[in-house]
Amino acid sequence: MEFSKSKRINYLLYQMGIKSIHDLIFYLPYRYEDYSLTPFIDIKDKQKVVLEGAILNEPKAFKGNKIKGVTFDFMSNDKHYFKVVAFNRDYLTSIINFRDTFTLVGIYNKQRNQINLINLNKGTISEEDRIKPIYHLPSSLKNFEFSRLVKKYLAKEDNKFFTIIPYEMINKYKLVNVKDALNYVHFPKNREELKKGVLFFKYEEALSFSIKNQIIRNENNVIKKTKLDLIDIKELNNLVKALPFKLSKDQINAIKEIVNDLNKNKPMYRILEGDVGSGKTMVALFSLYANYLRNRQGALLAPTEALAKQHYLTAKQLFYNTKINIKLLTGSSKADEKNMILEDLLDGSIDIIIGTHSLFSKGVKYNSLSLVVIDEQHRFGVNQRTSLVDKGEDVDLLQMSATPIPRSLALSIYGDLDISFLHSFPSKERNVTTSLMLTNTKKIFSIIDEELKKNRKIYVITPLIEFNENNSYSIESIYPIYKERYQNDVSCLHGALKKEEKEKALDDFIKGNSHILLSTQVVEVGIDIKDASLMFIYKASSFGLASLHQLRGRIGRDGYPSTCYLLYDEEDSLESKERLEILKDNNDGFILAEKDLSIRGPGEMLGLKQSGFPDFKYLNVSKDINIFTKARDDAKKIIENKDS
Ligand code: ADP
Ligand code: MG
Repeated sequence: MEFSKSKRINYLLYQMGIKSIHDLIFYLPYRYEDYSLTPFIDIKDKQKVVLEGAILNEPKAFKGNKIKGVTFDFMSNDKHYFKVVAFNRDYLTSIINFRDTFTLVGIYNKQRNQINLINLNKGTISEEDRIKPIYHLPSSLKNFEFSRLVKKYLAKEDNKFFTIIPYEMINKYKLVNVKDALNYVHFPKNREELKKGVLFFKYEEALSFSIKNQIIRNENNVIKKTKLDLIDIKELNNLVKALPFKLSKDQINAIKEIVNDLNKNKPMYRILEGDVGSGKTMVALFSLYANYLRNRQGALLAPTEALAKQHYLTAKQLFYNTKINIKLLTGSSKADEKNMILEDLLDGSIDIIIGTHSLFSKGVKYNSLSLVVIDEQHRFGVNQRTSLVDKGEDVDLLQMSATPIPRSLALSIYGDLDISFLHSFPSKERNVTTSLMLTNTKKIFSIIDEELKKNRKIYVITPLIEFNENNSYSIESIYPIYKERYQNDVSCLHGALKKEEKEKALDDFIKGNSHILLSTQVVEVGIDIKDASLMFIYKASSFGLASLHQLRGRIGRDGYPSTCYLLYDEEDSLESKERLEILKDNNDGFILAEKDLSIRGPGEMLGLKQSGFPDFKYLNVSKDINIFTKARDDAKKIIENKDS
């Protein structure tokens, strides 16, 4: 659809997957910049301040031994005077001039009566525009352009809005309607509006999550398995003994719980929760083995080809000494190979099939499918999950999730679902050091060079794809620098690339055609590239602790001594550095997510997408526990009423 007169904009929206008005207006901001002014009495040492005022002289550039930047004098509207320093931003001299008015955001240093600049917005901002939504957009689509389109289309008279939330709940919680909720998250006039908008989307997400769980749960409760073949634990133990490593205590527990479920006469509906690197794949494969021991077929569903292939190779290795017939089926399987697999699935000669969406496509029929394992379950819709289950009879279902969450909270969220937890880490201790480092390209390159000599692999992560005035670290600005030095040894991966380009970048990195992967946060959580042992995260302060933890979970997977460098700049505040320090001696994803919340001031918690918990778009499993419990109870009620 043509949203704009500009071909460029239409093209970019299309690339982003925005094809209807609905897609456009439901593309929500992922964070907000808050330009609400700080009253003079609230200005405190080392804290963030927002001031509006004028520049009193031409900005002067300075250059020291290690640092450079720009400095100028500033008078706030209420006539208070400050010195302002902007590190590493020489370009400001050409952007701002004597007597310009603007709003600045910075960290106050009381001793010097100085503000370290974070952010600057030229001109005056009207009261209603002080909370500025920021969207995830590809390069060359500007935030204001997108915002303008949303405004135009959201205002259309003939828009139809729909929500799954029943009237009863809307009244009960005094929720706003969909249209207002959209207006409030796209164009909040103040914090109250934004809060109302955010609450709507969070509750809707929680309710839809709970209803889906409840439906599947209820269906399962009434089914009785027609055929029950008990699994011989002894045989399972033989495979455990043959492993070159020891299963962790939690892995053993989870496998026991699963086998126990398989032996019950109602279908399993279990969730396997485990932090990155806790070893979920092993549990999945042992479950599939147990299922094989009762002479049935099992399927392992992964969200991408790269992950499916990875699981396939792991399985091949694990079952090397057995007679199990394992096959891989993905969108890029060749036609004759695919036909053969389809035949063998139907006549039962394939025991375990591993693959992507292809596993539940129409033509695929199974002989005796009775266990389905879904990796990264949040990547699949509920229909996709059940359509695979429907291809068998009395199918046992295991869903894996990387949301790190303590037992007590999980119960509030999932209600009475069965959950297994992997809290302890596999016995081969990961040897990952986390280290803070001032951004310094020379130093980074020399560390990378050393690692390359050892033929190891390196992740380089940036917060953004495109260049942005407020954050100079993006793929766009960094790729050329790496490319010049490392040429084809660096691959580049981010969300705005086409699917094939993404797969190629990852494939090159896996195969070792390239040893450096420059990427945004999109690097797959599940990707297990064993010989990656170095990671640099640019502008680490712009990520949540939980996200940083997920990112660093991708290195050191073969036990090799590895380092994750969190890069910071002069302009980063003391608090943000202290926040990063927490990562140095903490390795529990959930505790990190909790700390994240306790540290960040309310000013930075406005956004919708910062939970760092992979299962949810808007919800934060620890902060929003109240919303979860309410939604869970509401879902029960809704479904009981529907049934009666
Ligand atoms: P995740 O839970 O994030 O999916 P994986 O299943 O990918 O984690 O496992 C992470 C890494 O730990 C893999 O390299 C895997 O081979 C390894 N691993 C799993 N279980 C064990 C174990 N018991 N001992 C040693 N290494 C293990
Ligand atoms: Mg995994």
